[in-house]
Amino acid sequence: MIYQRSSQLFAEAEKVIPGGVNSPVRAFKAVGGTPIFVKSAKGAYLFDEDGNKLIDYINSWGPMILGHAFQPVVDAVVEKAKLGTSFGMPTELETQIAALAVSMVPNIDKIRFVNSGTEACMSAIRLARGFTKRDKIIKFAGCYHGHSDSFLIQAGSGAITFGSPNSPGVTEGTAKDTLLAKYNDLENVSALIEANKNEIAAIIVEPVAGNMGCIPPNKGFLEGLRQMCTDNEILLIFDEVMTGFRLARGGVQELFNIKADIVCFGKVIGGGLPVGAFAARNEIMNYLAPLGPVYQAGTLSGNPLAMAAGLAMLQALDNDRAIFKRLEEKTAYLAAGIDKVLNANKVEFTINSVGSMISVHFDAAPVFDFQSAAKGDNETFKKFFHGLLNEGIYIAPSAYETWFITDALSYEDLDFTIQAIDKVSKTF
Ligand SMILES: *Cc1c(COP(=O)(O)O)cnc(C)c1O
Repeated sequence: MIYQRSSQLFAEAEKVIPGGVNSPVRAFKAVGGTPIFVKSAKGAYLFDEDGNKLIDYINSWGPMILGHAFQPVVDAVVEKAKLGTSFGMPTELETQIAALAVSMVPNIDKIRFVNSGTEACMSAIRLARGFTKRDKIIKFAGCYHGHSDSFLIQAGSGAITFGSPNSPGVTEGTAKDTLLAKYNDLENVSALIEANKNEIAAIIVEPVAGNMGCIPPNKGFLEGLRQMCTDNEILLIFDEVMTGFRLARGGVQELFNIKADIVCFGKVIGGGLPVGAFAARNEIMNYLAPLGPVYQAGTLSGNPLAMAAGLAMLQALDNDRAIFKRLEEKTAYLAAGIDKVLNANKVEFTINSVGSMISVHFDAAPVFDFQSAAKGDNETFKKFFHGLLNEGIYIAPSAYETWFITDALSYEDLDFTIQAIDKVSKTF
């Protein structure tokens, strides 16, 4: 395939946008080459500026769970836009999406909408700190909770891909309040709690990790965190920005039947528009301004176009009770197909998947935390990435990212992908 016009557009973008992109994960620095410029997308496919058609496994990094340009979402946005695009005043729509979200997710009474997953996580820890009157938080190496200062300590996703897990610009004062634990290692968490008795406000975790590739929690890991939090009056924050409305109607809380104290959302909840949210039971949410002392605000929060898109998306998911099973079956089919061809071609690999999240690591050992994820062979990944791109298949340009399976992908698309992986992995 030819990506000539994309290359030209990238050269122009680089002159006026740092690195030519508005989010580093879109750059091709880890794999080489230049990013592809998209013209449009429909269902399972992207159409780029050179006229190529690509099967999309990124899906805007998660939101497009029902495929691109999903008609009810498009219609809702177009209709709302005609009535005005922002008011900075309450609308009935906000109550409708809030009520639906509260009905779908277990264990939450109220939800506050913001504009991104970053804002949701940032606000969630402020709320947790205000509520507990403690300063420190525990996060896990390789988990990504957006780019706010407290979280840029061994963060996953783009932060690892670009080699700056601890970003300059984050002050030591901020960094000292973020304690770092190993994913899937309860003893490590327990030791941190012991060493910081009565100082920890919250433990924040991706309950199924997706920003160091896909890493499921070991049996007992989330249960152990829940118990330690309860025992030590620490709030458990599930960052479900990626997993919420994706792995089950009620996210990981429902999937594994574990109660979090605060839950963060993003991605799917906005149907492809800029939306994030955080939610908890009344006791905690009533601590927020204007009811309580913890301040949090946003000029465009609850924006009507964003709420219309999110509501149409959640309604579609709420009405289709077979959706999550269907997605899981497609993912399992793809995983089995990839497993078969990579084995046949004698490639060393590990496939992790949960529900509609899947990743292929180029290392034979199990991948269960950041350290084991980092062992993947990046040279093989580069060949894999560019080989697939050449076949018309778009996966994230980093070995640390999860692929997202959407309802729009057909079994023909999956077969085509498996055949392409067979062809490409013969050249490793
Ligand atoms: C994407 C992501 C975020 C950040 O969301 P943005 O909308 O990009 O700010 C936070 N947490 C997790 C788990 C994510 O996957």
